[in-house]
Amino acid sequence: LRRYKVAFLGSGAWACAAAKLACENASGDDLFDPEVSMWVHEEVHEGRPLHETINETHENPKYAKGCFMGENLEASSSAEDAVREANLVVFCVPHEFAHGLCVQLQGRVRPDAIAISLTKGMRIRPEGPQLISEMIRKKLGVADAGVLMGANIAGEIAQGQLSEGTIGYRILENAKVFERLFQTPSFIVTLVQDVEGAEMSGTLKNVVAIAAGLSDGLGYGSNTKAAILRQGLSEMRSFAKKMFPTVRDETFLESCGVADLVASCYGGRNRRVAEAFAREGGQRAMEEVAEDLLGGQKLQGALTAGEVHSVLRQNGWEDEFPLFDTVYRIAVTREIPVDAVTGFMSSRQSG
Ligand code: NAD
Ligand code: 13P
Repeated sequence: LRRYKVAFLGSGAWACAAAKLACENASGDDLFDPEVSMWVHEEVHEGRPLHETINETHENPKYAKGCFMGENLEASSSAEDAVREANLVVFCVPHEFAHGLCVQLQGRVRPDAIAISLTKGMRIRPEGPQLISEMIRKKLGVADAGVLMGANIAGEIAQGQLSEGTIGYRILENAKVFERLFQTPSFIVTLVQDVEGAEMSGTLKNVVAIAAGLSDGLGYGSNTKAAILRQGLSEMRSFAKKMFPTVRDETFLESCGVADLVASCYGGRNRRVAEAFAREGGQRAMEEVAEDLLGGQKLQGALTAGEVHSVLRQNGWEDEFPLFDTVYRIAVTREIPVDAVTGFMSSRQSG
């Protein structure tokens, strides 16, 4: 029997809720070393280094208040120290910081380590977009990298409410180790052999959630939001398949697909920030509204709308993705008014 040593990279709301699941399993399963390490991006919170407070209370008071992760959680302000002995690496930083962290950790992770990415987002390069899991595999030099995606609003999982997750994998044996690390009686994991489909749907639903929030902010009801979800799901699937032809239709029926879309369009941060942005009539940049509302947590959808749009523009696909294009023009460039969010329907009327 092999003991896996787990390291988390990231300590935001989802990183902490997921660490709570992992700490519970690691402390009671011989497959794992009971001590789980966590890299905390250093900052001073209420006069103290955040990682010190986490080591004392086993809770992150800034990003995940009330989420007790377990006595076996060991926080560190050094990413190098956190991963040094790890052979299971859980990657969960907001996607805009993912590349910098991977560059910093090049050559520092054990080559026999296996990784899983919980980050929703992608990396844009001149030669085309790259999945975060692919970047982790290449840059960190790990043996394998899958993803854990799904309808996983962090605060609800921290409270132990029933939720599902989807592991997208390439090597089944590795996925089973991560299933054992994360699955609990209230967190039910399903495995799909489609890393690209799971990761792209988790990434793209953040753009649709912005449209859903705009609709809420305009005071529209369930029918309009349902139209946004339908169109959004359709564009998520088409975009993912254009990027990665191996993506499977069935993946969009898993927790990482339609379920994450529903949860995020009703209960997520992207939705909430976009609703407030719409109520203000789009007067301020969405990032600025996010700063006011999220207490340092990061909005992924506006950045992703810009990243998706760069791919659409590069390929001349804007007309095939009217919802993604509309979100970009309302939320990123602010060149069209908020109430243009239903404009994506005109392509359906003319088509
Ligand atoms: P978060 O948005 O709650 O917190 C932001 C995190 O970024 C903090 O840990 C902060 O320390 C860190 N940070 C700030 N500046 C940084 C820097 N320069 N370098 C590195 N880190 C820095 O974080 P989260 O919710 O754990 O989100 C991480 C990923 O998980 C995102 O891609 C998100 O889409 C995904 N996710 C979140 C949820 C959720 O409900 N919160 C659910 C599923 C997936
Ligand atoms: P938000 O970042 O919009 O809160 O979405 C969280 C999420 O990914 C739920 O699965």
